[in-house]
Amino acid sequence: RFISFEGIDGAGKSTHIEALGERLRQRGADVVHTREPGGTELAESLRELILHRSMDSLTEALLVFAGRRDHLQRVIEPALATGKTVLCDRFTDASFAYQGGGRGMDLAVLGTLEHWVQGTRQPDLTLWFDLDPAIAAQRRAAAREADRFEQQDLEFFTRVRAGYAARAASAPQRFARIDAGLSVPEVAAQIHELLEARGW
Ligand code: C5P
Repeated sequence: RFISFEGIDGAGKSTHIEALGERLRQRGADVVHTREPGGTELAESLRELILHRSMDSLTEALLVFAGRRDHLQRVIEPALATGKTVLCDRFTDASFAYQGGGRGMDLAVLGTLEHWVQGTRQPDLTLWFDLDPAIAAQRRAAAREADRFEQQDLEFFTRVRAGYAARAASAPQRFARIDAGLSVPEVAAQIHELLEARGW
């Protein structure tokens, strides 16, 4: 199974990926926890460039998708082929939300890159941590580090959120919206219920 985790910065994905990974391991699953941008040595090098160098949005999208190709070929596809459960912190929906919604890139171009890079491969389930951008900004301020995306303003994250909402509407059977404004135990319970409902 392939499960991706999405949402604007500060929505709390990381905490819950860890917890879900633990839970699935206890139930006997062989879990691979990975992330994008990144997930392979090459893609992690690209991540450094993406997060810290300024570039135009098409360059950014090409680097993200180049990393994704490497990540799919070396990590995700082999893991799925051997029956592992892949938990991926961000995947292609982030490209539609950040490069598309946030940076205003043509979604048809992103769709073409998506098709080239991954064919028909999509996550089986996408947990979308949806949160008010103002609350997310408060949470980010409480944490220390900020890359060049995390320094963006409220309007940018409002567009990213809208990008996720549009993507979710286009694939309602794959997307599950999580109310990330709730407490950590409440969010964990929502995730638990979603997986139970699928018999996972
Ligand atoms: O989720 P994580 O904090 O690891 O993401 C790293 C950064 O890259 C985030 O600030 C995120 O906003 C940004 N990003 C992006 N485009 C993507 C994926 C992530 O701008 N396609």
